[in-house]
Formats: sequence, structure tokens, C-alpha cells
Amino acid sequence: IKENGEPEKMPPPPAVKGRRKSVAPQELNKGSKRLSCVIKPPEIQTKRGKFGEVTRPNQKFYEMIQDFRETLEITPISATDLIEPHRICVCVRKRPLNKQEINKKEIDVISVPGRGALLVHEPKQKVDLTKYLDNQTFHFDYSFDETATNDLVYKFTAKPLVQSIFEGCMATCFAYGQTGSGKTHTMGGDFTGRQQNSAKGIYALAAQDVFACLNHRRYSNLDLSAYVSFFEIYNGKVYDLLNKKAKLRVLEDDRQQVQVVGLEEVYVTTAEDVIRVIQTGSACRTSGQTSANANSSRSHAVLQIVLRRNDRATSLHGKFSLVDLAGNERGTDVSSNDRSTLVETAEINRSLLALKECIRSLGKNSDHIPFRMSTLTKVLRDSFIGEKSRTCMIAMVSPGMASCEYTMNTLRYADRVKELNANSKAGG
Ligand code: ADP
Ligand code: MG
Repeated sequence: IKENGEPEKMPPPPAVKGRRKSVAPQELNKGSKRLSCVIKPPEIQTKRGKFGEVTRPNQKFYEMIQDFRETLEITPISATDLIEPHRICVCVRKRPLNKQEINKKEIDVISVPGRGALLVHEPKQKVDLTKYLDNQTFHFDYSFDETATNDLVYKFTAKPLVQSIFEGCMATCFAYGQTGSGKTHTMGGDFTGRQQNSAKGIYALAAQDVFACLNHRRYSNLDLSAYVSFFEIYNGKVYDLLNKKAKLRVLEDDRQQVQVVGLEEVYVTTAEDVIRVIQTGSACRTSGQTSANANSSRSHAVLQIVLRRNDRATSLHGKFSLVDLAGNERGTDVSSNDRSTLVETAEINRSLLALKECIRSLGKNSDHIPFRMSTLTKVLRDSFIGEKSRTCMIAMVSPGMASCEYTMNTLRYADRVKELNANSKAGG
């Protein structure tokens, strides 16, 4: 019985394993706190894992972070800031602490000073138990703090891409991050309770602007119509969210054109039409699942707004793909005995790796785009080739100390997407 064993030998607290097990660390702590009153001198408590403590021991880190913040010069992004055009734009968005996290006295370890910067105050401990912060700074094109609205995020990310599809571009906007970090909130709209407000997400905001352009004099002579499709990629297979999750085949012809065979494309004439389509598709996405978030977080959802010419055999003019990616918490379930979960995780890792490589190739103007590495990159092939591609990635991060490792993974990934892309770096 390890009841009075050294606490540092305990397995890492499950808090780092993400949201689904968020009750565990609290229980773990409760137990050991009770024990410590009886047998442990209080200072041993502080030896506990990096992220396990939820009450007292983190107070010190909290104060250190507060002290650090006082030295920061903060210039939050505002709606009137200049929007620079980017071929590849990488941003980061921090969500606020949620109720449960606040109740658990979770510490916010992220600061967003603005001008594209974001800091992680990673709590660490020396061998002699001295606590210190490892403060790491990341730079992106834009950084959004917890007070930023979807409207503001949209303005700097997807909005500049809308016009590009009227100029014949293939635009793509990705929401990337760990489960629970705010991808669906950003793309699909905020939740009030269980109800999602679809009109307030980037999907709907983009649709609104598409129709504003469509009805604008400047583009009316193009004689275009808009169509929407909505599908999900799960375990490398494509499912149509507008057709009862029908499983669809992905084919590549000899000209390397990729097609999702039989994908439903709904003709839309107003933003309200699109919102209805989003609601239908989102409901389909989460239907038949025991826990809505658990399953949908393991699939990529892709909403496409396609512009076609009315005259010439409805040929493609431009396309906007908006992607709510699967949670990136890699390795979460490596301890799982469930084979299907392992396969799922491997597939997600592979597709996210492929995505990163494809965007990097685009940034390097490379001739070789490794789009065949995954179904995700295959169906988005158009997004990675040539002069007419525009990409925006919004990396979402959870603010809590318990998410620190995943947050670091997310930021490193986003950093790599941007690396080597000298042009965009100069802009950011
Ligand atoms: P993900 O899709 O990345 O798994 P969600 O979008 O479902 O995460 O967000 C998880 C929870 O956090 C939801 O209840 C959502 O409403 C909330 N949330 C996410 N981002 C924000 C934000 N910026 N402001 C307020 N609440 C947010
Ligand atoms: Mg989600």
C-alpha cells in the first residue's frame, strides 16, 4: 500500500490527460490532503506532480504569474487594427477559464500581451523544490485573449479570405487545438447551455460576407452561385453530414483532381440558408453519440462554401473550406486497451502531421505537396497548391495549468506551420 509512499512516485495526475477525466485530480488531491494531515509533514505536499495540485500549493505559482503580468506591456488587439493580407496566416486564441476550472481554483497560465504574442508561464520545480516559472513567448500573426469575441477573431482570420474566393482562390480556415479549447465554439458558434448559437460562429459570419460579396456590384458580372457542403472525416473515411452520414468515396483522377463522390451540395441564396444547413449538419454530427463531445472531438468537420459560375456548366470559381479539426491531444489514450481508440488516435495524428506538412510545402512554394498522406489533406488538395491558395490557422488554447502540456504542443505545432514562411513572418 502506497498510502504513505513518496508522493513524487505517484503516476502523473490525470489532469494532464485532458478534459474528460477532469474530476480525477480533485479526488486524488482530496485523498492525499486528508492523508497528509495525519502522516505527512505539509511541505511534502509541494512535491506532488507539476499539475496535480488544485488548492494551496499552486498559490505560489499564481502569485508569481501575477507578478510577471505586472511587468507586461499589454496592447490588446482591437477591431480598428490594421488587417494585413497573408497567404498563410497563423493566429492563436485563448479561451477564458470555465466554471469548473474556476471552481477547482485552476490557475490561468497564459498571458496575451497582444501584437501577435502569447506567453505560457509554465510552472516548474527545481530538484531542491524551489518553484519557478518557465516563461515562453510565441509570436503569431495575431493573438486573441479570453475577452475576444468570435466577431473579432473572424475579422482578422476568415473575413479577409472571403473576398479571395471571389477572385478565384481556394481559401481554407482551420481551427486547431486540444478538445475543449474552443474550436467548435469559434467555428460553429457559441453555446448557451447545450444550445449552439450557429449565427455567431465563423461559419455563419463567413456565409454572411459571401452573400454580401455575391450581391455586390463588383462581382455581379461574374454571375456566380453559392453552394454548401458539410462533411466529417473520421478514421480516414468521409461521411456526409447533409445526407445522414452517408459514407462517401474519395477518388483521384489521372489529373490528380480529387473528388468526394456523391457529396451533397446545397444551393444557398442567403446566410439564413447556410445557418440552417450548419444546424442540420451539426445535429447530424453529434447524433447517435453517447457523449456528444467525446466523439465529435475525434473527427474533422469540413464546411465548404463553393462558388460556381452559372453559365459554363457550373464550373468551380472559388472555394472556402472551414475546418473544425479533431482534438490534437495525441497519445491521450496510449494506455487504453481499446484497439479502436488507438487506431483513431494514430489516424488523427497522421492527418494533423500531414496537414502541417502540406501547409509548410505551400509556404515554401514547393512542387511536392504531400497531400496523399491523409484523407483530410487529400480532400483539401486544392487548398495547398499554387498561387491561388490562402490558408488561415487558428490555434486554440485552454488557459488552465492542467492543460499546459497540450497548450505547448498546440503552440509548437502552430509555430512549425509558420516557420520557413518568411513572407508571412515579415507581416506578423
Ligand atoms: P472544442 O471544440 O475545441 O472541443 P468547444 O468549442 O466545444 O471546444 O469548447 C469547450 C467549451 O468551452 C464549450 O462549453 C464552449 O462554449 C466553451 N468556450 C470555448 N471557447 C470559448 C470562448 N472563447 N469564450 C467562452 N466560452 C468558450
Ligand atoms: Mg469540438
